[in-house]
Amino acid sequence: MSPRPLPRDSVALIDGYHSPQIDVDVRLNTNESPESPPAEFAAAVAAAVGKVDWHRYPGRDATELRTRIGELHQVGPQQIFAANGSNEVLQTLLLTYGGPGRAAAMFEPTYALHSHLSRITGTTVAEGERGPGFELDLDEVERVLRASTPAVTFLCSPNNPTGVVDTEEEIRAVLALVEELGGLLCVDEAYGQFANHSATALLGPETPLVVSRTYSKTWAMAAARLGYLIGPEWVVAELEKVVLPYHLDSMTQIAGTVALDYLDAMNGRVAALVEERGRLVQQMTDLPLEVWPSGANFVLFRPTTVEGRDLWQELTERSILVRDCSSWPRLDGCLRVTVGSTEEDDRFLTALREILV
Ligand code: PMP
Repeated sequence: MSPRPLPRDSVALIDGYHSPQIDVDVRLNTNESPESPPAEFAAAVAAAVGKVDWHRYPGRDATELRTRIGELHQVGPQQIFAANGSNEVLQTLLLTYGGPGRAAAMFEPTYALHSHLSRITGTTVAEGERGPGFELDLDEVERVLRASTPAVTFLCSPNNPTGVVDTEEEIRAVLALVEELGGLLCVDEAYGQFANHSATALLGPETPLVVSRTYSKTWAMAAARLGYLIGPEWVVAELEKVVLPYHLDSMTQIAGTVALDYLDAMNGRVAALVEERGRLVQQMTDLPLEVWPSGANFVLFRPTTVEGRDLWQELTERSILVRDCSSWPRLDGCLRVTVGSTEEDDRFLTALREILV
């Protein structure tokens, strides 16, 4: 028998992305919205899907979707690149601006896919450290960027999995450095609407800045797989060359366009979750836990009297699933819980009290 063909070295060395999907009553592990968009949204999508010409390819430029998203951000469709989830947006960005002989910088701990997608696309990973409270350390940013002159620098604000929101001054300072050194800054705002400011305020026609967003969290549409970035036209034009033709199917385009008619409902859900996050954090602070302040729809915490992994196991046995970050570098013993509905969060809090007190 001939030997099995091997993948590229950069792929062979990669560990896949792991996020266990266990069948439980209370799912607080993937930062989804606890509720769906309104029933009228689903009905409007079903009606529009009923009119799809199934024998035809979808609109390749997704013009209506991109125009409507652009209106949301006061830019034209040429400044919007949409794809199947913001993961595909980030992958396309790295396929376009990263690759062999180029580097991407990120500041850990941060969203695992930034380094994972860099490796998959053959982009050198230039890894910097965040400070002790997981805040951005501008001296470290400068050191890493000057040493590696990355083609792409990632920030994630609010940051996953810590919840930290980078300040406007910090983002401005990183952007100034990126402009000086000639790369592109990507601010991943998957949780942007939960925070009190956005890097979209810094966008400009010649500014090397892109901001990525997703429908998966605040729009409560993780099932649809839709994300986008806002950036200069010349970036979007390059991304369009790289992404597969007809990558966004008709149903996704419809769902994404119809969702924008329910903006008020989305803002209402976000406001309610921010309030619920306050309640959750408040109650968690009364328990033997180290709890980090969060600007997102999740909270990072570490038990101080038991091992993180053991707490995760006990919660799972009570049919409550949170994210186990306890073995991740720099997050020793930490778990991350998504802000759920009041009922879900109460089950989580009750279980924590049973286990810890
Ligand atoms: N960025 C961040 C920071 C995330 O947490 C996630 C999802 N966990 C994504 C991007 C990707 O989201 P999606 O592909 O569902 O848009």
